[in-house]
Amino acid sequence: MKRDYYEVLGVSKDATKDEIKKAYRKLSKKYHPDLNKEPDAAEKFKEINEAYEVLSDDQKRAQYDRFGHAGVNGQGGFGGGGGFGDFGDFGGFGGFGGFEDIFDSFFGGSRRRKDPNAPRKGDDLQFRMNISFEDAVFGKQTEIEIPREEECETCHGTGAKPGTSPKTCDRCNGTGQISQTIDTPLGRIVNRRTCGHCHGTGKIIVEKCTVCGGKGRVKKRKKIKITIPAGIDDGQQLRVAGQGEPGINGGPPGDLYIVFSVGKHPYFVRKGDDIYYDLKITFPQAALGDEIEVPTIYGKVKLRIPPGTQSGAQFRIKDKGVKNIHGYGKGHQYVNVIVVTPTNLTERQKQLLREFAEISGDIPEEQGSSLFDKIKKTFKGESK
Ligand SMILES: [Zn+2]
Ligand SMILES: [Zn+2]
Repeated sequence: MKRDYYEVLGVSKDATKDEIKKAYRKLSKKYHPDLNKEPDAAEKFKEINEAYEVLSDDQKRAQYDRFGHAGVNGQGGFGGGGGFGDFGDFGGFGGFGGFEDIFDSFFGGSRRRKDPNAPRKGDDLQFRMNISFEDAVFGKQTEIEIPREEECETCHGTGAKPGTSPKTCDRCNGTGQISQTIDTPLGRIVNRRTCGHCHGTGKIIVEKCTVCGGKGRVKKRKKIKITIPAGIDDGQQLRVAGQGEPGINGGPPGDLYIVFSVGKHPYFVRKGDDIYYDLKITFPQAALGDEIEVPTIYGKVKLRIPPGTQSGAQFRIKDKGVKNIHGYGKGHQYVNVIVVTPTNLTERQKQLLREFAEISGDIPEEQGSSLFDKIKKTFKGESK
């Protein structure tokens, strides 16, 4: 098991640079192989130099404080990466992001844990909004009120009582993480966990702000102006940049996503950009043809029904559908014809219909005795 560098030099974790230098000078003299003939002197000398190399360099020391030996050992010591004392390979520690990537991929791709004091983007918010059929079709400028967390004005987000300030957590030295290095036959493993003392924040609030209870944030109802885009459909969402939860440590705020729930219309049914409308016509209109005013989302339009129109026929009124949200023109309106059979006829109406039936006599072929004969014949195999 590799010894802790501070222990090697016999200094405390918060030793100053001078103290580290002094300790190093003293120990390196004591264990210098030229002066010390004890069998383990060379080994100790090497260990002292290694510890000094790390602790005398602010950057390396910070990495070591955060990640332990793995933090200053090339590829983090997994599977026997670069040897100790091999710091030259490390390019001045500039690429430490790389180390964290490797680390995170080793631990199941868990969310990358960064410095708890680093700026972080606020959380995104989702908000469901009910809108009318018309507002979805034509769009609208409106204002919504959403419950959202805002920075506490009393403590300016620190969570500490005004006049006091949070202290750096002494268990994790403000990193929010406790790391432990374990040597195993398969290599060195770094076990990192969230500091339980500060809950990963790296800070301890001694006197809590009474307004927010130490959270640094308060729930508020915030009014936001939004534009419902014309052509939005049920279930679609709108992203309002920067209107999510506030950022952490000065990071940018998250985004707000508004998911629309579009109400039904009493007459129109919308499918994508097209509108469907059921048009009821009388039997004489269907038989003789007519010009009928049909409602569309843009107002009335005249539709010509040709003579002999059947129930179930569909007509298209071009470009009377919804304007495409991405600007690809407009949908159409489809008119489904339903021929309404008259009910509650007067004696006179009945008489006229009987007369009509007598004169026309054109019963559809699929009806009557000839059809039954045909079906019979097919069953007997006599059909030709
Ligand atoms: Zn507060
Ligand atoms: Zn802590």
